[in-house]
Amino acid sequence: CIPNGRAKGHQIVVCVRKRPLRRKELTDREVDVVTIPSKDTLVVHEPRKHVNLVKFLENHSFRFDYVFNEDCSNATVYEFTARPLIKHIFEGGMATCFAYGQTGSGKTHTMGGRFPGSQQSSMDGIYGMAAKDVFSTLKTAPYSRLKLKVTCSFFEIYGTRVYDLLMPGKPQLRVLEDGKQQVQVVGLTQNAVKNTADVLNLLEMGNSVRTSGQTSANSKSSRSHAVFQIVLRSEANQRIHGKFSLIDLAGNERGADNSSADRVTRLEGSEINKSLLVLKECIRALGRQSSHLPFRGSKLTQVLRDSFIGGKKVKTCMIAMISPGLHSVEHTLNTLRYADRVKEL
Ligand code: ADP
Ligand code: MG
Repeated sequence: CIPNGRAKGHQIVVCVRKRPLRRKELTDREVDVVTIPSKDTLVVHEPRKHVNLVKFLENHSFRFDYVFNEDCSNATVYEFTARPLIKHIFEGGMATCFAYGQTGSGKTHTMGGRFPGSQQSSMDGIYGMAAKDVFSTLKTAPYSRLKLKVTCSFFEIYGTRVYDLLMPGKPQLRVLEDGKQQVQVVGLTQNAVKNTADVLNLLEMGNSVRTSGQTSANSKSSRSHAVFQIVLRSEANQRIHGKFSLIDLAGNERGADNSSADRVTRLEGSEINKSLLVLKECIRALGRQSSHLPFRGSKLTQVLRDSFIGGKKVKTCMIAMISPGLHSVEHTLNTLRYADRVKEL
């Protein structure tokens, strides 16, 4: 799988990853309704009925910077999405990479949020691969002369609350904005890391606190955003040189869920919905070079504020994950329409 999307170097890159049907789906004879006719085009074949009940397929076609099919590995996805952003942070930029999509579509699989019992190692995901490249780049000219050190943070946003995944007991943290509009997550663990192994240890720890061992649609992990950050700092004055934020977003399927009888679930759903809408607006504002960024509209965008301001110093990549099955077709179309709106014009 080698996607043949458009040239690198864009400020906003939007791509889609289609996961394979799972074994359970295959035994249940689930139908794959997504095809990828060319390397940047994806078509969803939605079964519909005419008023006279004659069935037909409505084909929805989308184009993105890259489309990854079910044969693509995490390594390939990484190569075209997060990897080009490593150089950007060494050059003093801010980078973000978002995994977006419905629960079960492959966000955590791609990013590397390993859960107990999974076959993957933390090294197999984008978090681990990015960390490895950060350390190899650190040693190479001209960046070795910059005398940078690396710290990592890992936190979770659940509703409007922020929790530190690198502290035992997962304490809740406060978010403060000072007079200069600097946003601070008070007391957030910023662990100094010397090599990839250090980062993998942090990931193991964070991932084990994050999830309760399963990926069902009801698990808390599907209702929270996980933010993993790799920060480059000047050794001399600790000032931030560059930052890479890698985000495993909450499942987007709750957006349409107004039917839930459970008030907490409904409130959670509307909060997730709001944060994803505000995120979309912030990325679009970035693409238009607009100075109005509605980042205060959600906790997620508020804590990521410094990754949205700064004009050309900011680069973003969104990977929209989709489940190919007929039963997910509505969520899949919602995901693709969202991703389509985020695209740079
Ligand atoms: P999400 O985080 O979006 O809820 P997961 O990453 O937990 O979804 O994926 C759901 C299931 O599908 C997991 O069992 C995962 O291992 C599997 N899966 C996801 N993407 C892929 C892929 N590209 N190839 C193989 N299995 C995948
Ligand atoms: Mg997940």
